Amino acid sequence: MEHHTVLITGASRGIGAAAARLFAEQGWDVALGYQTKKAEAEALAAQLAALGVRAMAVGADVADAAQVDAMFAAVEGQLGPVDVLVNNAGIAQIGLFTDLTEEQWDRVMDVNCKGVYLCCRRALPAMIAAHRGSIINLSSMWGQVGASCEVAYSAAKAAVIGLTKALAKEVGPSGIRVNCVAPGVIATDMNAALTAEDIAALEEETPLCRIGTAQEAAQAILWLAGEKSAFVTGQVLAPNGGIVV
Ligand code: NAD
Repeated sequence: MEHHTVLITGASRGIGAAAARLFAEQGWDVALGYQTKKAEAEALAAQLAALGVRAMAVGADVADAAQVDAMFAAVEGQLGPVDVLVNNAGIAQIGLFTDLTEEQWDRVMDVNCKGVYLCCRRALPAMIAAHRGSIINLSSMWGQVGASCEVAYSAAKAAVIGLTKALAKEVGPSGIRVNCVAPGVIATDMNAALTAEDIAALEEETPLCRIGTAQEAAQAILWLAGEKSAFVTGQVLAPNGGIVV
């Protein structure tokens, strides 16, 4: 098989870790971005390497341009050019809009939105030179329809959809695809604060009557990365059980 390398940000756990496993199972070399969870990311890299692929853990705050640059340099040095970038790192912020501080607003926008910009900016010159590449950005159903008490998160995830569509148009002629995955409610640490009643209410709202797994969100990422989606760009794929249609 042709050699492929994927860089996934926020890959120490949750959807990013599930995606890393799926890519490795398909024979991809995998770079696992992490912010603070070095030991977890390195343990996962060791598990993936046992599948016979090359895997590495690499630290960076995606909101920091210098750290993003160093992350890409480390990946390129160890694994070669990044063929697929998965901008998965994200943070949620729950609370009344009237209580949202300027610092909280800035951090949510910086991680969820500016981080996507910084990683795309760093990845694209090599992809354009190679005339190939695929970028998958994690949005959310809340970026599509808005969530009460998650205004900053909803705004950032909506911006990711706008960025994806515009960038897809701009770099399509250079042979690069850019798409979004907008999951519904997925059982990860991001939703750890939800109570059993909250989950039950969300399940009731969902046509498929349950919340999703990290692996189900990861399958959408894998599909958008590979040849099976070769004619798909600028799209928002929503593994969400039908909660938003
Ligand atoms: P998670 O909290 O388990 O994982 C998020 C990952 O991002 C973590 O590994 C975290 O360390 C990393 N991260 C956070 N800030 C970072 C930073 N500044 N730099 C680098 N890494 C950073 O959550 P998850 O559910 O796996 O979320 C993955 C993506 O999917 C996020 O973008 C999230 O917004 C999106 N999403 C999740 C859900 C859901 O229901 N879980 C729904 C829709 C969208």
